[in-house]
Amino acid sequence: MKTFTTVKELQNELKKHKGKSIGFVPTMGALHSGHIALMKNSLKENDFTVCSIFVNPTQFNVKSDLDKYPRTLKADSEKLQKAGVDFLFAPSVKEMYPKGTKETVKVNLKGLDKQMEGQFRPGHFEGVVQVVHRLLKIVKPTRLYMGQKDFQQFTIIAQMIKSLRMKVELVVVKIQRAKDGLALSSRNVRLTEAKRKWAPIIYKALKEAKRSMKSKSVAEVEENAMKNLGKPRGYEPEYFTIVDGYTLKPIENWDDSDYVVAATAVWAGKVRLIDNMILKQS
Ligand code: AMP
Repeated sequence: MKTFTTVKELQNELKKHKGKSIGFVPTMGALHSGHIALMKNSLKENDFTVCSIFVNPTQFNVKSDLDKYPRTLKADSEKLQKAGVDFLFAPSVKEMYPKGTKETVKVNLKGLDKQMEGQFRPGHFEGVVQVVHRLLKIVKPTRLYMGQKDFQQFTIIAQMIKSLRMKVELVVVKIQRAKDGLALSSRNVRLTEAKRKWAPIIYKALKEAKRSMKSKSVAEVEENAMKNLGKPRGYEPEYFTIVDGYTLKPIENWDDSDYVVAATAVWAGKVRLIDNMILKQS
């Protein structure tokens, strides 16, 4: 695997492979098997795979979260090498934003950024759009790989690609979970032992929502989930919402949409965990 820290070096390498398909997996590092699943998909479907590791400051709305974000470049690099990734791009903030972090891209997100996470993480998706747009301009991949784990994120990036008519195919990879059901996340390492023990309740709440679709109303399912997610000590659900998977707007009745998704964010002590499940898709 070759590692690059500057745009120029990476692009010089990619120029050598003109005409070949490039799969691209953007990450913030602290890699786990969820990330590796994205790499594996890309490796299978493309001639070359580029992974980026960049902890993007513009998508953190809380500075302490940015400061505490795990940075494990050496271990990450070994994992990527083992997976068979061809190129790692690990730029500095200056390299990514040579004109400063304020420079951004205008995209009509059709209100997708205002739903779900948007209410609790102001500015987060502007930062995500900014960084993914810049990375796509640098790498110019054939395919972009993102995880279903960040449902709103891939939905917004799909809208960006459509709206700007970018020539890249978005591939969404299903959520990778620990044996007990907890969705893998770089933030999981920050959970205390006690909080980690209770973490499977999030997946349980999502499964329970799916099971209850026939017997309970949307509001009842949401209410029930919020109650259960708040039970363990130090657990505080921020939202558990059932939405239309295209618009991300809350639905009132199960028949309001043919693509229904349950999404949640839960504070487990000082760690914020998100998860989701597609309840219906036809
Ligand atoms: P991050 O490094 O957290 O920004 O994640 C980089 C990419 O990996 C994003 O597209 C995430 O959605 C994806 N990802 C993170 N966790 C998982 C997971 N448990 N399963 C599948 N994809 C994931």
